Amino acid sequence: MSDAASQDAPHGTIAFLGLGHMGGPMAVNLVKAGYPVAGFDVVPAAIEEAGRNGVPTVENVVDAVRGASVVLTMLPSGRHLLDAYRGTDGMPGLLAEAAPGTLFLDCSTINVDEAREAARLALDAGHRSVDAPVSGGVVGAEAGTLTFMVGGTAEDFDAVRPMLEVMGKRIVHCGDHGLGQAAKVCNNLILGISMIAVSEAFVLGEKLGLTHQALFDVASNASGQCWALTTNCPVPGPVPTSPANRDYQPGFAGALMAKDLRLALNALESNGVAARLGPLATEIYEAFAAEGGAGRDFSGIITEIRAKSDSTESAGTDT
Ligand code: NAD
Repeated sequence: MSDAASQDAPHGTIAFLGLGHMGGPMAVNLVKAGYPVAGFDVVPAAIEEAGRNGVPTVENVVDAVRGASVVLTMLPSGRHLLDAYRGTDGMPGLLAEAAPGTLFLDCSTINVDEAREAARLALDAGHRSVDAPVSGGVVGAEAGTLTFMVGGTAEDFDAVRPMLEVMGKRIVHCGDHGLGQAAKVCNNLILGISMIAVSEAFVLGEKLGLTHQALFDVASNASGQCWALTTNCPVPGPVPTSPANRDYQPGFAGALMAKDLRLALNALESNGVAARLGPLATEIYEAFAAEGGAGRDFSGIITEIRAKSDSTESAGTDT
């Protein structure tokens, strides 16, 4: 176990539930750092793959939480999380199975309201609760370079920080329960809207006869500068590592952007924000995902904008 891990190691195991695209490599990094992990997934193939990658696994949730001091979840949605916490017909609830005082650490991306409900359920059951959604994607999960946005008490933040540092490189305490999820949806609201803005600007530039490189050289050094332009540039050429250079292979898939914008929209609505671009961006990305963009990088939205634009000849699009 690394020094950082050994100082604040949990006294029991980490029950790791959800060994999918993200959870699988995150569990591997915990194991490599010396943490005792008991991995479980409802899909047997995910358990087998995690086992092949060196993660100790168990066959059911009861075995996973037995002896655990931390229950880490990396699940598809808030519904999955709340069902897992409470239990369903076929599966015992995690909250009831865990020993009193267990720290429930949820890293899934879910609605802010669901995160607060999950925390309340955990606290009411005599446990501790932290929400810690991530950004950085599968590449970040494998490399241990995720960003964690953490909601919970200062004491619980200190308790989870060493294990988050094994899986990530930037760990931000955003405030109380649910505020990790809040930071995540706010950030992705900015990202979804800004990618549409950058894409519309490039298509307009094409129509006006600007080369991609000329627009990039100006905007990346001017007030149009943003991550969607300078890191994930939606046209091939100016940023060689952006997904546009590999036919929009993700990267960050359109389905996930649509999901995250839906979470942002739910938060906008339930908090009465007079937002106009957020709902529109959600509609745009849900259509993109439904019309073939689900598995493409979200910057592929530019191809939709271009395809739906008038087919007047552009004067010059080469970079
Ligand atoms: P995934 O679908 O690959 O993995 C989720 C896993 O959870 C699946 O293997 C599923 O079988 C398992 N699962 C469902 N219910 C379960 C239960 N009750 N007990 C145990 N396992 C259960 O999804 P993913 O890409 O790994 O994403 C996980 C979470 O991380 C999502 O909330 C997603 O929005 C978020 N996220 C994903 C990315 C990404 O790039 N993939 C990036 C940032 C955040």
